[in-house]
Amino acid sequence: MPKSYPDIDRRILGEAYGSAETLENVTTLCDDYDSRWPGSGDDKASCEYMAGRLEAYGLEDVHLEKFTIPGWIRGPSTITVLEPRRKEIPCIGLPMTAGGVVEAELVDIGDGAVDVYEKGKSEIEGKIVLVNSAQPPTMARYLHRSERYQRSVLAGAAGWIFMTHYPAYGPPTGGISPIIPGVGVSYEDGTYLARVLRRKGRVKLRLDVSCKNLQVDTWNVVADLPGETKGETVVYGAHYEGHDIAVGALDDATGAAVVMEIARILAKEKRMRRGMRFILFGAEEIGLYGSRAYVHDHPGEVEATRFMMNFDAAGRYGKQGFNLHGWPQLEPFFREITAAIGPDVPLWQGVSPYSDHWPFFLRGVPTAGMGDPEENKRLGGRGFGHTRYDTVDKVNLRAMRECAANAAIAAVRIANADDWPVTLRPQEEVEAYVQAQGFKETVELGEKLKAYLNKRRKSLKPEARDYLDRLTGGWEEVI
Ligand SMILES: [Zn+2]
Repeated sequence: MPKSYPDIDRRILGEAYGSAETLENVTTLCDDYDSRWPGSGDDKASCEYMAGRLEAYGLEDVHLEKFTIPGWIRGPSTITVLEPRRKEIPCIGLPMTAGGVVEAELVDIGDGAVDVYEKGKSEIEGKIVLVNSAQPPTMARYLHRSERYQRSVLAGAAGWIFMTHYPAYGPPTGGISPIIPGVGVSYEDGTYLARVLRRKGRVKLRLDVSCKNLQVDTWNVVADLPGETKGETVVYGAHYEGHDIAVGALDDATGAAVVMEIARILAKEKRMRRGMRFILFGAEEIGLYGSRAYVHDHPGEVEATRFMMNFDAAGRYGKQGFNLHGWPQLEPFFREITAAIGPDVPLWQGVSPYSDHWPFFLRGVPTAGMGDPEENKRLGGRGFGHTRYDTVDKVNLRAMRECAANAAIAAVRIANADDWPVTLRPQEEVEAYVQAQGFKETVELGEKLKAYLNKRRKSLKPEARDYLDRLTGGWEEVI
């Protein structure tokens, strides 16, 4: 059981609520460095800004760690309806998409639940697929955009149109693989296309996507609060970059700001038994590259990670509870934490592969996130995330204060506990857990895709061939 720390808790709450530092940092990241998109030039400057703040808070060994990734730069994209009636539809290229022109008939697969691709293969083959972003009500697990894209590719799609299910949010963005051209369209334009197809029976489109797929350098920011003992550490992390069409205020300047705030608050306390490491990851959105680079470059330290907490979109409304990633043995420990914070703090279990905890999770590290499961249900998706409206005005200071305070109260107990109830999970158990969560078929998609592309290697575009060459089929490659 964790000890109680009433004095530290009060100081944490006082610091969190007595300061607007999180909102200051979100505002600076978004207004002064735009999206911090990898390769934009502003990403390094934003890392230097965050490193400067962390040093000023008293963190130690603050530094940038460079890594190189397959990056992507947006060009203009268009959809032209050729038949039955000519019309231009506004759209945006989805990050990492292949460029090129495709002329084909449209097929509408609705929410793209996993069973439509095999059944509808003859319908999908050679066509431009229209799919919306709603979570299929027939599926228990979360269905990510990239899975809908990859399954469309495997069914033989020639092009891909991703439509948001939110009215008045504009076209959505989100990373895909560079195989067939993929674009985002608004709810209104997507429903128009679906309606014309339904009424007239046939729609022919031209999809024209221009973009650049190229290698770029980007960075993680790493900072330490040393503990009384060496070895085991507690890691708090968030990705700092946003999508290039917006400033990524909620997703994920808020996460970066909350991680920095926890660091600021805990740097004022005396050393805890174990050290803490704070990591601001680059390039999460197009393939978890920052967290993968960190896990790859720090194998010993990852093995010595007692616990990793990830913050993706920490400024959302709702309660600020704890989402344990499949660690029932940690529940009694966290029940004590939530009891110390307040009786209505949610605590639940479950994991998805789509953020920076995942490479740690796959190494067996106990990981968690924060948020509110009821709020997630109510929102039914990303909200303003991945749209150009993910801006500073949407950010909620109260939610960030509460998130940082709750996370810091937990951190004190996690870093000081001598009777920590879990250890690194063995690889077989990681695999069994992923399977039990229903994500086995998701993580195996990479292997299927690799086999599919290998068969067609000669006819692939250069960016798709490069993609194939770097695909290992590993479980980290879910986006
Ligand atoms: Zn995110």
